[in-house]
Order: sequence, then C-alpha cells, then structure tokens
Amino acid sequence: MTYKQLVESLIKEIESEGLLPWEIPWHSGEIRNIKGNAYRGMNSLLLGFYCRSRKFKSPYFLTRKQAREIGGDIKESELERFFSVVFFNPARIQYAKIQEDEIEPKDKEDEKPTIKSGEWKIQKHSFLRVYSVYNVEQTEGINLSNFQNEKTKLKPVELADHIVEGYKNRPQITAIHGKAYYNPIADIVCIPPLRDYDTTEAFYSTAFHELIHSTGHKSRLNRIKSLAFFGSHDYSQEELVAECGASFLLNMCNMLTVKEHRQSSAYLQSWLCKLREKTALLWQSAAKAQKAVDWILGRSYTESAK
Ligand SMILES: [Zn+2]
Repeated sequence: MTYKQLVESLIKEIESEGLLPWEIPWHSGEIRNIKGNAYRGMNSLLLGFYCRSRKFKSPYFLTRKQAREIGGDIKESELERFFSVVFFNPARIQYAKIQEDEIEPKDKEDEKPTIKSGEWKIQKHSFLRVYSVYNVEQTEGINLSNFQNEKTKLKPVELADHIVEGYKNRPQITAIHGKAYYNPIADIVCIPPLRDYDTTEAFYSTAFHELIHSTGHKSRLNRIKSLAFFGSHDYSQEELVAECGASFLLNMCNMLTVKEHRQSSAYLQSWLCKLREKTALLWQSAAKAQKAVDWILGRSYTESAK
C-alpha cells in the first residue's frame, strides 16, 4: 500500500465511521519492529491504521530482509502488500567551500562582505529514508507466538495512572466541574473529576489531551510561546498535537480513543480537506505529539525503528 493509497483509504474510513485518524483504535498495542523498538509519530499512526484495516492482531512489523534473517519470508501472496515507513534522518553536518555567487552584494561600497569565496561553510542535510515493511502475520516460517502483543498484568486504568505519575515535574492537576483546559501562565491542568465522566476512557482522553498541552510550556518543549498563541494558526496545530498525543497514550494503555474534543460534522469535513491537501501538517503534528509523549514518559530515542 502506498502512502497515497493509505491516505485515500484513511479518508474512506473517516467518511464511513466519522472517526478522525487519531481516533481510530487498533487494539494491538504499541506498534513495534521485531527488535522491539516502537514506531513513532505518523509511522505509528498509519501502521496502527494498517493493522486495523488488515485485521492484524500482532503489532510487530519487519522488512523482508529481517524476515529472511530469522528463517522465514514474506508470503508470496503478500509481497506486494507492504507498507512504506518513512524516516527523516536528523540533519547531517558537512563542510563546503563558499562559492562566489553565494556572497550577497552590498549596497554601500565601503561595506565589505564578511565572507569570502573559498572559505569553508557549514551545510546541513536532512535525509529521507523509506523502508517497505510487513506485519509478521504476512510472513511464513516464523513463529508468530514470539510476536504477540505484550500481556501486561496492569489494568488500563493502572497503566494510565502510571503514565500520569511518571510525568516528572508535571504541572499541578486540579479537578474542576465542567472545565478542561491547560493554563500555560500558571502551568496548571484543570479537568473535571473522574465521576463526571461516563467512561474512564473519556476521563483519561481529556487528561492526556491537557497533559500533552502542558508539555508545550516554556520550561518543557516550549511549543506555547506566548498568549497570542491562542486563536492563532499555531494553536490549531497545537490542538492536533494534543489529540494525536492523547491517542498515542490511550493506545499504550489499551484504552479506546474517545471523540471528546469535537462534535460537528463540519469539523470532520474540514479535516477531510486538510488530509487531502495538507498531509504534511498531520506529519508535523504527529511528530510533535510523539515528542510530547516521550517527554511525559521520560524517554528519549537515538535510533528510530526500522
Ligand atoms: Zn486542547
């Protein structure tokens, strides 16, 4: 399945079920490669969706090379049904010589350019890597029981509490009836108490959403830069970040995502347009959401999962 085909089928799913991408539950736990490394950001979101659309129960993916290395292979009938995961390698720094035409001409004659051609400059290059991966259920000759969703003894609620408690230097969390928001000035998260919700999922969906916002505080990931931020274009992206991030956390707790933060079909329609035209926005938001999730979980990554 190509990226374009996937986005199209994602849109069909949204139209038929009225669910946004980050609201689609996949029930198979954190999506991982066979080394156990979790996929991140958009890769995680899309692979989860791929699991759901193909009804895979295992959250594990691998390349054909990896399948062969462990004594199996991709089933002949599945060879064309790979999924492309995309990685942006961090910028690599290189040195290059400055060319004559790179020096900006100066208006005043007495103002000499500060750089000369032939001097060395630093160049940054970002690399895009694409890998074709398959779910382990598309393979043969591999013992699938080694690649099932990890069974944890903790209940979803315990997992969720564990995440909240593990969030170091977290903002103060206050229970207020009928109000859910993050105040970046006071660095306080306000959420209605658990008993005000119909389901525990709805409560944690809200709690995670507001906690993801709190990672944008200047003392943390510094996404929320000023009060003018609210109502701006950046703020609508921040809402996406919060929704994606909350869905990542809910999935980690084996909880279903909840349609808590939007009601209207107009909102859904506006998202369908954005998905077709602005998939880059979703990519960026998912990446920021992943960073926010990592911050809450207190983990860092040096190497991405293939
Ligand atoms: Zn929000």
